[in-house]
Amino acid sequence: MRLLDGKKLSAQIKEDLRKETQNLKETRGIIPGLAVILVGSDAASELYVQMKAKACDEVGVYSVVHKMPENLKLQDIIDTIKMMNGNPFLDGILIQLPLPKHIYASELLEQIAIEKDVDGFHPHNFGRLFTGLDTFAPCTPLGVMRLLESNGVEIKGLNACVVGASNIVGRPMAALLLNAGATVDICHIFTRDLAEHTKRADLLVVGVGKADLISEDMVKEGAIVVDIGISRIDGKTRGDVAFDKVAPKTSWITPVPGGVGPMTIAMLLANTIKAAKKRKI
Ligand code: NAD
Repeated sequence: MRLLDGKKLSAQIKEDLRKETQNLKETRGIIPGLAVILVGSDAASELYVQMKAKACDEVGVYSVVHKMPENLKLQDIIDTIKMMNGNPFLDGILIQLPLPKHIYASELLEQIAIEKDVDGFHPHNFGRLFTGLDTFAPCTPLGVMRLLESNGVEIKGLNACVVGASNIVGRPMAALLLNAGATVDICHIFTRDLAEHTKRADLLVVGVGKADLISEDMVKEGAIVVDIGISRIDGKTRGDVAFDKVAPKTSWITPVPGGVGPMTIAMLLANTIKAAKKRKI
């Protein structure tokens, strides 16, 4: 068993990105800019936003966090997004999810200019992803791909199983794996016999949010296991995979924490810099 170490790889990626931002500044006078919209006061979201801003700072990306109270009208948030769409110094715009219950994320996500959609959640970019075109792929699944590829995992031809089918994790993950030549099963809450699917997988990617959902009897000997899930239990961060029991059966596995999480932020920075390079100045 070997660890897919996202902490180490993300540090290397950030170092490379820092050089890229330096180069962009010197050659084209561009400082990549990211705007984060935070609606309401969810503690976990506030923490994620702080982490994103800190990471931006580390690699030379300018970031601005726009905090908005929960009771604002939808139109006020839309007006803010439109203002950011027109700001030439902002290359990326993201809306921190989840949003308060009364706001439909899709109504806001569709307002983000497609060339600034660094989270890759706009249906236009989602469609491009599913048709295999260049786009902004959502950061968590993109981070998983980088983690696999950087460790020399050959995806073409693998039987992959993605557990979880949300728009931010499972579905784009399945699309990226399909684009890379895997045969992909997508499982979700209504899947009748989860183990029947997971046991066939050479590559098992789990993004559900239920600690210990995946036990050792659900995993094929020698499988590659990627755990995206995050749960807080008794003050500890846990993934969806029962790591201690599952790990000995695997060829590669991500730890939680220190696996996919740090890669997500690194890919957000990468997408923002990718957008900045396309600035028309
Ligand atoms: P979500 O609640 O939107 O989606 C969960 C998915 O899991 C759904 O498709 C649902 O059908 C499926 N599901 C629920 N119970 C299931 C079960 N028993 N068997 C099979 N499928 C089941 O959640 P999300 O936003 O996609 O996030 C999933 C997890 O990934 C969460 O723990 C979240 O914290 C984590 N996450 C981690 C990162 C990271 O950077 N590591 C980023 C985003 C999300």
